[in-house]
Amino acid sequence: MNKTKMIVTVGPKSNSEDIIRKMIISGADVIRINMSYASFEEAKDIILKVRKINLDLNIQTGIMIDTLGPEIRIGNLEKPFIKLEKGKLIRIVYNNIVGNEEMISVNSKEVIERCEENDEIFLNSGEVKIIVDKKTDDTLICKIDNDGKIKPNTTVNLKNITLNTTFLSEYDKKCIEFASKFEADFLALSHVRDNLDVLDVNDLLINLNNSNMQIISKIENKSAIDEIENILKVSDGIMVSRGDLGLEFELEKLPSVQKRIATLTKNKGKICIIATEMLASMEKNIRPTRAEVSDVANSVLDKTDAVMLSAETAIGDYPVETVLTMNKIIDEIENEIDYNDILKKIDRKEEIDISKAISYSAVDSANRVSAKAIVCSTLSGLTAKDISNYIPSCPVIATSPIDKVVRGLTINYGIIPFLVSNCDTTEELIKSSIITAKKVLKLEKGDKIVIAGSFPMTINYTNFIKIEEIK
Ligand code: PEP
Repeated sequence: MNKTKMIVTVGPKSNSEDIIRKMIISGADVIRINMSYASFEEAKDIILKVRKINLDLNIQTGIMIDTLGPEIRIGNLEKPFIKLEKGKLIRIVYNNIVGNEEMISVNSKEVIERCEENDEIFLNSGEVKIIVDKKTDDTLICKIDNDGKIKPNTTVNLKNITLNTTFLSEYDKKCIEFASKFEADFLALSHVRDNLDVLDVNDLLINLNNSNMQIISKIENKSAIDEIENILKVSDGIMVSRGDLGLEFELEKLPSVQKRIATLTKNKGKICIIATEMLASMEKNIRPTRAEVSDVANSVLDKTDAVMLSAETAIGDYPVETVLTMNKIIDEIENEIDYNDILKKIDRKEEIDISKAISYSAVDSANRVSAKAIVCSTLSGLTAKDISNYIPSCPVIATSPIDKVVRGLTINYGIIPFLVSNCDTTEELIKSSIITAKKVLKLEKGDKIVIAGSFPMTINYTNFIKIEEIK
C-alpha cells in the first residue's frame, strides 16, 4: 500500500461508474472535480458515483472541489477559433467586442491598466505568447511571439502581475455552497493571492456552518509565492499548481520554487500536493515519458502528501492506465526512502505538545521495532496528521467513528483511514486497534504494531503508546 496519496481528476473521459471504480481500485485516494469545467449536475453525479462505490467496497475516498478563481478570460470571437501569426500585431481592449485576428477583448480593465511595454501575456492556457509593444489609455498593442490558435472565452495569464480583482465571484460562492452541501472533504482554491483571500472563504464556510472542509490554497501566481508563509497560516494545505504557475512565473524557476514550497509546507505540518502534467503524455499515449516517471518519483522523494492527475484522467484516453502507472512509480520509489534518516533530521530541541511528543515516539518506536503499522484513534484527525508528519516507515491506520474525519485523512501521507465504532475504555480501544490492523493489513504471528491512544478515554488528546505483538 502506497504512502504518497493520489488525487485523480474525473472529467468527460472518466465520468463513468466503471472507470471511477477501476481508478479507485488502482490507487485513487481523492477524487477531484474541477469546477472550471464541470457543471453542478456533473459534479453531483460524480460525487454520488464515488459514494456508491465507497459503500460497495467499504472504503473511503475523499472528494475535492476545485474552484474557478478570479480568472482573466478573452471575450467572444468571430469564429470557433482564430489563428494568430508570429510577428503580427494584435490589440487588446476592455470593451465588449467580438474579437478577430486584429483585436480581442478581455474581461478585466486592470489588464490594460497594469500591463506595461515588454510585459508577457499568455493566451489560451499558454498556447500563444504576446508581448506588449505599445500602450494607450484603453488599448494594449501587442506583438505575437509564436504561431498558435485562440478560442473564445479562454484564459489569459500575465507574467509576474497579479490583479486586484475580487477573489470570490458569485460562481465560486455557489461552488463553495455546493461543496459544503455535498460534504466535500477538500476545497481547492484557485488563484489565491494572499491570506485575505483564504480568510474570505473561511468566513463563508463559517456562515455555512462547515468546520470540516479543509482548505487547500493553490499556489499559481507570483503573489502567492511571495505570501506563502501567511497563506500557510490560514490554510490546511497547499497545491503547487504548476500549470498556471508556469505561465505567471519564470518557468525555469519552477523546480526550485516547487521544492522550497514543499519543504516549507511540510515543516509547518500542512498538506502538500504537487500537481499538473505529472504524466501529461499519457493523455494520448499508453506509456509515460522517462522524464515524467522521474518527476513523479522526485515528488515522492520530497515527501509530499499527494501527487495529482488532471487532464490525464479527465480528458485523456487512458485514465485507468495512468492511475495504475502512477501507483507503480510511487510504489517503487517509496522503497528507496530512508525513514530513520528523516526522523534523525528532526529538530529535537524544539518544545512540542504532548500529542506531538507521543506521535514522535510512536514513529521512532515503529521504525526501530520494524512495526507493520501504527494504529491511532482520532476524533479530530489531528494525532493521525501529527504521526504522518514524522514520516513513519510503516502505514498509519487512523481509526475514527466519524466518517467526515475518516474521509478528511485520505489525503495525508501514509494514513489509511478506517471507520470504526466508538470505544468506551482504553482496553476496548487496544483490542479494537488490533482487530482493525488485522482487517486492513495481512498480519502474521510475531508482527508488531504500535498503538497510540488516550488513557483514560475521557481525555481528548493522545497520551500513550503501546507496542503489541500479534499472537
Ligand atoms: C494548475 O494550474 O496547475 C492547476 C492545478 O489548476 P487548474 O487545473 O484548475 O488549471
